Amino acid sequence: MTGKRIKIFCDFDGTIATEDVGDLFFTTFTQGKALPAIQLWESGKIDSREMYLRGMQYLNVSKNQLNDFINARSLDTTFVPFVDFCAANDIPVSILSDGMDLYIKPILERNYLPALNVYCNELHWNGEQKLEINFPYFEHTCGRCANCKGYQIRRLRENDDFIIFVGDGYSDLCGIKEVDLIFAKDSLAAYCDREKIKYLAFENFSNILNWLKLNLTEKNTEVSMSDKADKLWQDVKKGVKDTVTYVTEKTEELTAIGRLKMDIAGIKRKTEKKYNELGRIVYDKLEKEEGLVLDADEDVKKVIEEISSFGKELKGKEKEMEEVGKKEEESTAAAEEKIEESSPETEGKKDSE
Ligand SMILES: [Mg+2]
Repeated sequence: MTGKRIKIFCDFDGTIATEDVGDLFFTTFTQGKALPAIQLWESGKIDSREMYLRGMQYLNVSKNQLNDFINARSLDTTFVPFVDFCAANDIPVSILSDGMDLYIKPILERNYLPALNVYCNELHWNGEQKLEINFPYFEHTCGRCANCKGYQIRRLRENDDFIIFVGDGYSDLCGIKEVDLIFAKDSLAAYCDREKIKYLAFENFSNILNWLKLNLTEKNTEVSMSDKADKLWQDVKKGVKDTVTYVTEKTEELTAIGRLKMDIAGIKRKTEKKYNELGRIVYDKLEKEEGLVLDADEDVKKVIEEISSFGKELKGKEKEMEEVGKKEEESTAAAEEKIEESSPETEGKKDSE
């Protein structure tokens, strides 16, 4: 495990989203007629592509109904801080879903998470009322999934990856066979118990965030404390001066950069929310009030001031990060110089001179 890069794959429905949005979408907009197909899939009698194709026959939804449906869905509130922490520590987070982009992507965008990698099935509008379904990964099916998570992880895994999977249900069974660590809840946890598969139970993403904080000792590299101590001991034995100070300082700087990156991500998200709010206020006011002078409007002025103060805060954090980065470069160069000076080869060279 030492020195491996962590990659995290998360299920969407019931894991990132608090509900199974896909099931709810198909049961709601087929007036329950998709339910028998969902049950057949859950009992393993049909694959998920077949389940969706059967459900599509009864699907009847307008764009407005879909927007209302999407706006009513919510994410695990600890998912955003978890994503920010991962971004600050260069840990890739991808979403693997046997559900549909039609609701996953807008829900992520609404939560200011559009940059996450999403691998799922596709459902697109063809005209105002008609939806068309597409299964871009079905040719790699396991016979049970339309988008097999096991296939996706095999495809996306690189040498030295330490793969973590987070999930809650039946669509995750192929995924968990391919990973190094499973976080499971609900029916996935029950399945793991039945099959005696090792996993860590979780309730929400704050549990996974805490695990990462405990186990990540260097930037996206999982190194146990005993390994680190061993490395330090070897360096001390080699007679490298100031190693302890160098490692301690470096660890603090990495933490400082990580913290700054998280702050910056948070400010950017707050700013985007305010822009969104501003757009909505302006739109509503322009629709209702003819001849509205925008820069004299108190609500508009308030949001603009907030955006401007976030802008200043952002500049401050970016400057701080630049300074910490410079300090880190200098300390790395100085430590490397010291290591170079005290290495046996250099010492030998000096002696022979
Ligand atoms: Mg799920």
